[in-house]
Amino acid sequence: MPRKTSKQKKKWSMYPSLHSDITDLLEEDGITFGFYGNDTDTGAIRDYDTNIMGRFNCYNSTCKSDGWSSKMIAITIRLYPGNKYNARVYHQHCKACKSISRPVLDASYAERVAYRLRKWKGIAQEVPDHSEEILLFSLLSE
Ligand SMILES: [Zn+2]
Repeated sequence: MPRKTSKQKKKWSMYPSLHSDITDLLEEDGITFGFYGNDTDTGAIRDYDTNIMGRFNCYNSTCKSDGWSSKMIAITIRLYPGNKYNARVYHQHCKACKSISRPVLDASYAERVAYRLRKWKGIAQEVPDHSEEILLFSLLSE
């Protein structure tokens, strides 16, 4: 019997619809990547964990939460053979009712994925815009 996993709530998802934003960013450098639609570590050449920003809504109709925004949404970017990549974005739990929620991402998703792909391609880059943010995070966590 095949295992039935469809009823389990997923704790992450991919955002293939944002692939065109990444394509646009990489076009400036003359590089192209395809989106690898299979959410698996199998066959991945490289992977990298980082954080992006976005907003969550609580979809529990009995919950009074207005949702929340996060600057620390975990994401794993993976590289596959043949210039393919994908990114797994982790969901978060509502602080009020513990329901899990899939975020609405901002531009930081495409920027960070594109940055990582350029880096993996060996393209020299300016220090990214979010370096200040990282500095701020490290100051805040001290
Ligand atoms: Zn909630």
